[in-house]
Amino acid sequence: MKRADVYEKFDAIGSLVFATVDKGVPQTRIAHLFAFDDEGLYFRTMVTKAFYKQLNDTELVSICGMYPTTTIAHDDEGMPSFEPGYTIRATGEVREIPLEALKAKAQGNEMFMLGVKDIEKYPAMTTFCLHRAWGEVFDFDFEKENRPHKLERTRFCFGGQQVPFQGMRITDVCMGCGACLERCSFTAIGREGDRCVIDPSRCDVCGDCYTVCPVDAVEIVIQDTLVRGTAGH
Ligand code: SF4
Ligand code: SF4
Repeated sequence: MKRADVYEKFDAIGSLVFATVDKGVPQTRIAHLFAFDDEGLYFRTMVTKAFYKQLNDTELVSICGMYPTTTIAHDDEGMPSFEPGYTIRATGEVREIPLEALKAKAQGNEMFMLGVKDIEKYPAMTTFCLHRAWGEVFDFDFEKENRPHKLERTRFCFGGQQVPFQGMRITDVCMGCGACLERCSFTAIGREGDRCVIDPSRCDVCGDCYTVCPVDAVEIVIQDTLVRGTAGH
């Protein structure tokens, strides 16, 4: 996915959760992205807010949202159900964009033009660019209304960041009994030779295969989510 595709997914949601860390304590608030270009994705805050201080202190942010609704319905048994849609999240490094640089971007670009207008109206406002990040779109259809599988997970990265692997993996210990394959309601497991393998794009990391495997062949993999870099390309 390109930055434009990522922006479009976030923009369709509108209001997003922005998470930062303040001396080890997680903090969240609702904000929105207003533009994108080859440098990254852009949002605004005020220099007077704790959000601003946290962004400058850590130079990190994590953003997420859900489309088309965040409403949770319930089925006849009272269990939660969700109409088909997606969640999207991105985590990475931010830098503040000076007003003059924003004005330069605004030449002929309506998205940035509106950002400049807003700052001129509210002078305490400033702009940040998420310039190096990774994330994923978690496209769900849990009742399989529109396709034969529940999940399509698409991971993306930009600005020099790599996508870390997080999820379940079947090791060489697998003896091919097929118990996990039968159990997986996400149809994320297939056979490869005499053993089973997991398709990460279909896997929900629900853990059913992990609990059912008789020989502990399923491992949980959590790679470091962000390796800091200096590249802004
Ligand atoms: S349940 Fe375990 S041993 Fe059996 S196929 Fe799955 S991973 Fe392999
Ligand atoms: S973690 Fe859940 S969704 Fe993923 S492969 Fe195992 S059973 Fe399937």
